[in-house]
Amino acid sequence: MNTFTRLLESHEVLLADGATGTNLFELGLQSGDAPELWNAEFPERIRQHYRAFIDAGSDLVLTNTFGGNSSRLALHKAEGQVRELNVAAVHLLKQEIEDSGRDVAIAGSMGPTGDILEPSGPRTISDATEIFSEQAHALADGGADVLWLETLSSREECLAAVTGAAETGLPVVMTMSFDTNGRTMMGLTPEDVLLMQADLPCKLHAWGGNCGLGASEIIAALLNARVANHADKNPPPFVAKANCGIPQYEDGKIVYSGTPELMARYTELAIDAGARIVGGCCGTTPGHIAAMREIIDNHKRGTQPSAEHIVNELGELTDGTWALINGTTPKKPSRPSRRRPRQ
Ligand SMILES: [Zn+2]
Repeated sequence: MNTFTRLLESHEVLLADGATGTNLFELGLQSGDAPELWNAEFPERIRQHYRAFIDAGSDLVLTNTFGGNSSRLALHKAEGQVRELNVAAVHLLKQEIEDSGRDVAIAGSMGPTGDILEPSGPRTISDATEIFSEQAHALADGGADVLWLETLSSREECLAAVTGAAETGLPVVMTMSFDTNGRTMMGLTPEDVLLMQADLPCKLHAWGGNCGLGASEIIAALLNARVANHADKNPPPFVAKANCGIPQYEDGKIVYSGTPELMARYTELAIDAGARIVGGCCGTTPGHIAAMREIIDNHKRGTQPSAEHIVNELGELTDGTWALINGTTPKKPSRPSRRRPRQ
């Protein structure tokens, strides 16, 4: 049986990994470099990156292939290396998992093409589908257990990415970046994404949010999804992969405000809100992931948190997110509990 499917079925909550970019910068990656080139140039550093998350307790680790499609690699004149770089990324992770003796799924990371798709932009959906398909096949041939489409924001991009990924027959997970007032950059709400799933060529194995703003926004997206008005009575499990607090510009570089304690608290709330896969995005180090492992091993799922409770614990929500919560939660706007945490 597929490792990812088996782990998802046998565990109440799976722990994903943390940031790739942030941690590769610590290993010497320079801003503007293509991290995927390191799969060929510095395989030992990529193994070290994987090893750190495996040792911290991740149940699934993403391959270093977020920008490993021909459109993104073309910016580095490496569009001819899609297959080589994606296969290498999977093989390095596979070796690290085997050496660790732990049971860990290989999630083949696929990020956006970087182009705006028609009708808003120049790239056709069929072009984009081919670009995603090429990468998906390379990840599948390398031995990925699941294709992990992340940081998506438009409906067209989702259709193209899922269509390309589904060709391989592997499980597909899709996460959006709800980074613009509770919506994706292209305006999709969590409810829109749930509704869109009827038009996708395969049933997703999981879906959710990654990156974006702070940890509170992703849990709010999950609350929004839970009250969404859609026909699917059995929506796929939710993935929360939040940034490690809020990015701040300090001394010429981006630092993230989240402590291991904050990410532990975020993990508790994500579990209480119903997330089945929890991880971190930008700024999340192996140290944060180790703190989150403790919670996943010990925390019993509690009552679904209110939005107020999330704000108290993790930080502010944007006005747009509040509006979505008020607009989509039955009976919410006029209730006095609006300003008072329920627990
Ligand atoms: Zn991120």
